[in-house]
Amino acid sequence: MTEPSIFTRILNGDIPGEIVVDTDTVFAIRDINPQAPLHVLVIPKTEQYRDVTELAAGDPALLAEMVAVAKQLADEHANGEYRLIFNNGPSAGQTVFHVHAHVLGNIEESKLVGF
Ligand code: AMP
Repeated sequence: MTEPSIFTRILNGDIPGEIVVDTDTVFAIRDINPQAPLHVLVIPKTEQYRDVTELAAGDPALLAEMVAVAKQLADEHANGEYRLIFNNGPSAGQTVFHVHAHVLGNIEESKLVGF
């Protein structure tokens, strides 16, 4: 058996983390290295999918639930508008291979330039 991901260990309470959403299938935690005033990771409880490509093919309803949770977080912690980022593969910046969406909100205008 493979080791649980760092996100699963946070969900299980094995390492510290701030869980801000917890549903039957999805949870969300504050990113430890925030890139915006709101920076939360939305994560399926299953570790079955490494990235959003696999998730979209295998369980599109679960992907839709992640997007709904992202919107809920943006409504609760920002002005309802948000940036949603999935890194897919090491060369694209992915470091944790348990699919997760970065939800960024309240982004400083200067950081939006050129993106
Ligand atoms: P990615 O690079 O897209 O795979 O995203 C992984 C994210 O997990 C990074 O933004 C990290 O800052 C974040 N991260 C890593 N360890 C922790 C942790 N213990 N608690 C919260 N976020 C974490």
